[in-house]
Amino acid sequence: MSEPVDEGTAGWNPEDRPGKQEYFALLALAARARADCLGRRVGAIVVRDDRVLSTGYNGTPIGMPNCSEGGCHRCAHRDQEEYSAGRGYDLCICVHAEQNSLLAAARFGQSTLGATLYTTMRPCFGCVKESLQAGIVAIHYLSEWVPFGAEQDPALASQYANLRSRFVEFSHLTLARNRLFRMLSTMGEEVPR
Ligand SMILES: [Zn+2]
Ligand SMILES: [Zn+2]
Ligand SMILES: [Zn+2]
Repeated sequence: MSEPVDEGTAGWNPEDRPGKQEYFALLALAARARADCLGRRVGAIVVRDDRVLSTGYNGTPIGMPNCSEGGCHRCAHRDQEEYSAGRGYDLCICVHAEQNSLLAAARFGQSTLGATLYTTMRPCFGCVKESLQAGIVAIHYLSEWVPFGAEQDPALASQYANLRSRFVEFSHLTLARNRLFRMLSTMGEEVPR
């Protein structure tokens, strides 16, 4: 028989109650638990007025075989240089977590205008530009990641910086790892670096 989930009363300490940013980071991490991609697993949520509009995690489109089942040729061949981390995204069938959170809002008719995106990893170039077009005004991410090519080529780096500057906020969340770890320990997820 499976262990019942506790009723949330045992050993509760009001000081352990997450702050708003911790709460949204935890929800993005909870979404990440559903991710199915042989690459980095990511979770994202769209928030407006401190309320969650939608969630997303990365994986193949609805009804398609999962990435872990060989559903994405590019992800299954990440050992090949042309498909290495951050490359060959145009050939990847996996939908990114940030895209999925925006698209879930679209699917159910929730406006993302003026909303904030929380994601477990710094979004790729594609997700940043799509967020901008969807009216997202702030992006907060947990793990740092540098888009491929953005560092090597000064023109690309400046273009990317210009894109980032269109957001009111574009920040790397620096939450207390020990607090987040305590909160996450009941969710079976790791604290991101
Ligand atoms: Zn994948
Ligand atoms: Zn893929
Ligand atoms: Zn992306």
